[in-house]
Amino acid sequence: MSKQTLSFQAEVKQLLHLVTHSLYSNKEIFLRELISNASDACDKLRFEALDHAEFYEDAPNLDVRILVDKSARTLTIRDNGIGMSAQEAIDHLGTIAKSGTKDFMGRLSGDQQKDAQLIGQFGVGFYSGYIVADRITVESRRAGLKPEEGVRWSSEGTGDFEVDAITKPTRGTDIVLHLREGEDEFLSAWKVRSIVNKYSDHISLPILMQKEEWDAEKGEHVTLDTWDTVNQAAALWTRSKSDITQEQYDDFYKQISHDQDAPLAHTHNRVEGRSEYTQLLYVPAKAPYDLWNRDKKGGLKLYVKRVFIMDDAEALLPSYLRFVKGVVDSADLPLNVSREILQESRDVKAIREGCTKRVLSMLEDLAKHEDQAKRDQYAAFWTEFGSVLKEGIGEDFANRERLAKLFRFASTAVDDGATQSVSLADYVDRMKEGQEGIYVITADTVTAAKNSPQLELFKKKGIEVLLLTDRVDEWLLSHLHDFEGKPLHNVTKGAVDLGSLQDEAEKKQAEEAAEHLKPLLERLKTALSDRVKDVRVTTRLVDSPACLVTEDGEISGHLARLLKQAGQ
Ligand code: ADP
Ligand code: MG
Repeated sequence: MSKQTLSFQAEVKQLLHLVTHSLYSNKEIFLRELISNASDACDKLRFEALDHAEFYEDAPNLDVRILVDKSARTLTIRDNGIGMSAQEAIDHLGTIAKSGTKDFMGRLSGDQQKDAQLIGQFGVGFYSGYIVADRITVESRRAGLKPEEGVRWSSEGTGDFEVDAITKPTRGTDIVLHLREGEDEFLSAWKVRSIVNKYSDHISLPILMQKEEWDAEKGEHVTLDTWDTVNQAAALWTRSKSDITQEQYDDFYKQISHDQDAPLAHTHNRVEGRSEYTQLLYVPAKAPYDLWNRDKKGGLKLYVKRVFIMDDAEALLPSYLRFVKGVVDSADLPLNVSREILQESRDVKAIREGCTKRVLSMLEDLAKHEDQAKRDQYAAFWTEFGSVLKEGIGEDFANRERLAKLFRFASTAVDDGATQSVSLADYVDRMKEGQEGIYVITADTVTAAKNSPQLELFKKKGIEVLLLTDRVDEWLLSHLHDFEGKPLHNVTKGAVDLGSLQDEAEKKQAEEAAEHLKPLLERLKTALSDRVKDVRVTTRLVDSPACLVTEDGEISGHLARLLKQAGQ
């Protein structure tokens, strides 16, 4: 291959411009992104070497080295991972294969803190190097290729990049950042170490830097030829709980989730028995922007005996828990496990059940915690993820009771009826003497629900009604028929039977009225014959003259409106 100059894909150009101009106040994240790429490259090597032991060549110990060169004003991130062939360098560093790029650019908010997180989420981390560098040179050689088959890729990050063949004796990749004017702070080994500590302490790969010594004669720090490890280099989940601080747990979460906020809760366990594995699971505090994306995969990373196998292992948790982030490290699965095998595996089934139970316990602990602050966290969780959790009622039969207990609803019994804070258990505790069922109303909004004529009688009698206004609620009701033996009644459906809550006098009055009003009912029925099925006398209204209801077992008026909106 002779030297060639190629042009960046148009999208990349745009992206580069945005990245360098909009992330400036958070510039140190470039180091996190480049170290994370180096770590990915080592994971890939380990994985490919399962079938190709020769890929290790004579360097089986994988690590990342960071070199500072003050006179050349460069900072180099070097790994001995999988490396890139010339074609891979062209493809991976000059184009953006992932479809999410447009989305990414549309999402940049101008809030640099937030945008800096997006960069990692969208897999465009390499380009963050241009925040501090006006030229990046990449020298790489893929494992398994000959030393002469190395590649040098170089670009100022504007329009073009160059690629050239080089001889590179060692496998892996050097990312050389030529620092911009004014970015000399990244030439300070001390500064670089502190950034590595902040962002990459939990990378399970050793990150090495050269020692420095104060040279009194020269009056400056000189770099020595000895290397030391800057990070802890032990995968967090393999360490014992008692050795891990809350802050370390939080940092690890931020690293794997690209979320800037600390998580709400975590659970970390080594499970032994039928299936042996370690789980470290987190519940985030905020919903990601794509929570409602149907294709969104789960948030768990799968490792087998500490070897990284795959991201987004959706088989490890049911889809209604897709917001959970974390790591599962299995001792039983084969290293060459594929997504297809995962779907079938009995070990995976055990892991999935185990993880589901743990997540539910984590939520239960928050929900009924003695500490008000924790309960508030549950309320916040519910606001962010409640609708997703509701999907579980149809998806996870085994846990439906535990799930139903975690649900929260708006209610006529709460002053500020708009917040979803009432549990079914709260409702049952407050049920009136003689009340047999749980009354709910479905509507588009809480205001519509509260002002519905169908609630008049309930208001008059002081009977609590839960106000269900989420899109999934109709669907929820079609799966959740009762709670602790108490049937759920949608008051927009059929005749309301208040059972023994209705006094005899009222019933009698209604029967008499029905008799007395028969001729009127007949005339109404004839007049509306092609529009309604039946016209009845009701006791449910107090002030309004009439209301519409649907038949039991039929779709409710609210659902019919939703379907119509959706064009069905
Ligand atoms: P992502 O890491 O999410 O894929 P990046 O922009 O960070 O996105 O990196 C783009 C691609 O460049 C990577 O997917 C990988 O194929 C390649 N790459 C980057 N750094 C390295 C490296 N150190 N070793 C091997 N490949 C790399
Ligand atoms: Mg990356």
